[in-house]
Amino acid sequence: MAMVMPAGGTQARSAVPSTTDLPAPIWHPSPNFGARRDGQKPSLIVLHYTAMDDAQSALHRLCDPVHEVSAHYLIGAQGTLWQMVREEDRAWHAGAGSWQGQGDVNSRSIGVELDNTGAHPFTEPQMAVLEALLTSLMSRWAIPPDGVIGHSDMAPGRKSDPGPRFDWRRLERLGLAQTRSSAKGPSDAPVRLFRELAHNAGFPSDVDDETLLAAVRLRFRPWGRGALAPEDFSPLCYTSAQT
Ligand SMILES: [Zn+2]
Repeated sequence: MAMVMPAGGTQARSAVPSTTDLPAPIWHPSPNFGARRDGQKPSLIVLHYTAMDDAQSALHRLCDPVHEVSAHYLIGAQGTLWQMVREEDRAWHAGAGSWQGQGDVNSRSIGVELDNTGAHPFTEPQMAVLEALLTSLMSRWAIPPDGVIGHSDMAPGRKSDPGPRFDWRRLERLGLAQTRSSAKGPSDAPVRLFRELAHNAGFPSDVDDETLLAAVRLRFRPWGRGALAPEDFSPLCYTSAQT
């Protein structure tokens, strides 16, 4: 079954939600799930890469009771969509970490795994299905763009997925992730302000300066190297009331 409708010739891509129809997920149940605690509903969507060679290997692992991991969805490199856990239930994908000052991310999120080793770009069919899935999830659960995060955002230093190859700007242009600010960062680059801005954006504050900087760069400017720079502040400035 064709998963991706071909776009019209040389038609330019416009800033509207993906026109790809969301394929019906292939139901492949995992035993690795439980009830969401305290009756929570999904308010976040956490994106991952599988770091495995192929989707079948990932599917096997995510459904193996020995490993005690799972996710709600897996999108293969060719755009195949599998569902392993009902959206109402709590999948085991996020682990230790926090976002917006709250832990137990599993109880308040939907986990989406992308079939990718972490060492190569994400494919077009996969991204198109991800866009369609995000559009559907965000609409049905009333999740705003800033509720779409990477695993590394909520677990700095411990996780690095979906990694430097993931095209966050593409999601931002479609309103499927928080649009970054392009404000000019302070020339003296004070670390205390950086930590405050990162925390306001949702990043955990219980990590050291270096780890936090690495996590923010992984999300917004993975090419960034060296000491904290004004450019590291720019994408975060939208969260600040400061002028
Ligand atoms: Zn992950």
